[in-house]
Amino acid sequence: MLNTLRKVVQEVNGAKDLKTALSIIVQRVRAAMGTQVCSVYLLDPETNRFVLMSTEGLNKRSIGRVSMAPNEGLVGLVGTREEPLNLEDASSHPRFRYFAETGEERYASFLGAPIIHHRRVMGVLVVQQKERRQFDEGEEAFLVTMSAQLAGVIAHAEATGTIRGLGRQGKGIQEARFVGIPGAPGVGVGTAVVVLPPADLEVVPDKTVTDIEAELALFQHALESVREDMRQLSERLSTQLRKEERALFDVYLMMLDDAALGNEVTQIIKRGQWAQGALRQVVTEHVRRFEMMDDAYLSERAADVKDLGRRLLAYLQQARQQCLVYPDQTILVSEELSPAMLGEVPEGKLAGMISVLGSGNSHVAILARAMGIPTVMGAVDLPYSKVDGISLIVDGYHGEVFTNPSPQLLKQYSAVVEEERQLTQGLEALRSLPCETLDGHRMPLWVNTGLLADVARAQQRGAEGVGLYRTEVPFMINDRFPSEKEQLSIYREQLAAFHPQPVTMRMLDIGGDKSLSYFPIKEDNPFLGWRGIRVTLDHPEIFLVQARAMLKASEGLDNLRIMLPMISGVHELDEAQHLLHRAWCEVRDEGVNISMPPVGVMVEVPSAVYQARDLAREVDFISVGSNDLTQYLLAVDRNNPRVADLYDYFHPAVLQALKSVVEDAHAENVPVSICGEMAGDPAAAVLLMAMGYDSLSMNATNLPKVKWLLRQMSLSKAKELLDQLLKIDNPQVVHSALHLALRNLGLGRVINPASTVQS
Ligand code: PEP
Ligand code: MG
Repeated sequence: MLNTLRKVVQEVNGAKDLKTALSIIVQRVRAAMGTQVCSVYLLDPETNRFVLMSTEGLNKRSIGRVSMAPNEGLVGLVGTREEPLNLEDASSHPRFRYFAETGEERYASFLGAPIIHHRRVMGVLVVQQKERRQFDEGEEAFLVTMSAQLAGVIAHAEATGTIRGLGRQGKGIQEARFVGIPGAPGVGVGTAVVVLPPADLEVVPDKTVTDIEAELALFQHALESVREDMRQLSERLSTQLRKEERALFDVYLMMLDDAALGNEVTQIIKRGQWAQGALRQVVTEHVRRFEMMDDAYLSERAADVKDLGRRLLAYLQQARQQCLVYPDQTILVSEELSPAMLGEVPEGKLAGMISVLGSGNSHVAILARAMGIPTVMGAVDLPYSKVDGISLIVDGYHGEVFTNPSPQLLKQYSAVVEEERQLTQGLEALRSLPCETLDGHRMPLWVNTGLLADVARAQQRGAEGVGLYRTEVPFMINDRFPSEKEQLSIYREQLAAFHPQPVTMRMLDIGGDKSLSYFPIKEDNPFLGWRGIRVTLDHPEIFLVQARAMLKASEGLDNLRIMLPMISGVHELDEAQHLLHRAWCEVRDEGVNISMPPVGVMVEVPSAVYQARDLAREVDFISVGSNDLTQYLLAVDRNNPRVADLYDYFHPAVLQALKSVVEDAHAENVPVSICGEMAGDPAAAVLLMAMGYDSLSMNATNLPKVKWLLRQMSLSKAKELLDQLLKIDNPQVVHSALHLALRNLGLGRVINPASTVQS
């Protein structure tokens, strides 16, 4: 069963449009189950009716004509009950409805399974049989599993069709909306530039080209390069492999021959397809044919063709990257955005970003917020590889993407962009004013940095210090560990830029979703694995080099503070302190004149919440990492779009933990700040101030909004609000009560500027 399932899903995935996908489904399922009929009905959201979209066995003329409301027929029943229905004699069921045009009176037994994608019923998959018999458990399980597998594939094919004008409504290219997760606030309007994962043939889209000669030349160049690679590889292995074993390389060379694979690709390019698309078509077809073969030797050849395909694609992608022209309003789209991709776009051209994977708390989203680039994460249903070059709107407030937006929608969103611009301009005046509440409470606002550009932005917005410098960012955009000297110069630049304001440098915090290409960490549960301080305590050489670089960088400036990430107990803090002292002694021995800087600990693991007092006794400051603390307290992966709606720093348990850390730190007379994204949410900042946080550290983009709101508030009012909210046990109610209270105070303006758009 598994093998059949896998083959069908694979084949359907390769279908060029929804119609073909559905036709493959009904043919293959009918054959696999040995039934007389297999049909797919899809729910049309406009008419709210289940429409017969494809069938094998029923009269084909009824396709698109037969439809039923959710309260009609057996199909309607399966759809509304969201459960399979297995009937020996369908016509005797009270909900049976006869449609003359299908000719279905001949079929007695009926088995239907709902097709559900992300809780939404998309349609019903049905098989029917002439003889009266109940389908057995195995058959029922097969159909249910098949429809669960196909739900995502159908959703994907449908979305692709809508984008390319091949949707089931056949209305030509239409505006379509895809829901994701807010990544970075703001609205971006522009043209999609898709960054495909390197050498992944499966996601290469079709695209027509006009300059066929150029495309042919590109392909010839890729062919020649791979041929050369093969020859060299064979040469290099000549001493280790026997002649017969090296014959494999001759097979590769033959496959690339002008008369074989190479020729087929060339023919497709000549019909107007771009080289990458032509390559995908040819390779997929060959792989499919090889995989179908029962002979083990021949079916193994599929792997060789795939390998060759990947090698050719890598050269084609390299060539494209070199001549890629980014439009003025680039919307960067990728399956998984990475910090390095952002760096590729020329300055001033990046208007928005979309990532299919990841969530609002992924580190790339944090970077996007710091840069003020509207971003949507977790847009899982967007057929991202197919949107290159089309017009898009990125709504980073609601986490929505619109493809081919209508002039009307463009107008509405342009108004939001303008409103946002005016708001930012209005807040500029706050730059030199203190963040002080109406009743005179002073709340220092610090920034989180990582990129060089953050320095200028932080200064333009009047930051009073750096509460978190993510040192891993320079590590991530490098292709090897930076040396002590290189690190020293990067850190010196940060310290000097903010001097005399304090700069809190965090020791390297890699692992989780922050990987270094040159130091890969592969784990099943990366967020519960080798992360942050765990890595650097296991690699004291990395820790010591970094600490030495920081200490040396601060000579003569003395505005350095060192912070330790992911501490889960006092034992780790002790070890890290020991290493820090060792580094300090070493640099002093080298003649660097520097006193030991303040050392702090991040509270971002639940165990640290319970040990906050013990930790506080040993450090100079505490900073709460609410991003990780929320994920660990709620057991919600911050990077996983499927559970993103459960990730909530207004959850009563998180609020209680945040409050208890402040109380414990203050009991030891240790100042406590917070540097998670929550601190930059104006509404949350009100609560944090009321809890007693001594400073808030946030992305520079949000700093003026937080300052504006706190300046309109009194500390006593904030405390009153906090007291009320701490009595609520439901996160949603906390949200609504807080936002309502702020709106009632006339302070709703900075909460969500896109709330006026009707989508
Ligand atoms: C946090 O976890 O809140 C934090 C500030 O660190 P990061 O987001 O870099 O993990
Ligand atoms: Mg963290």
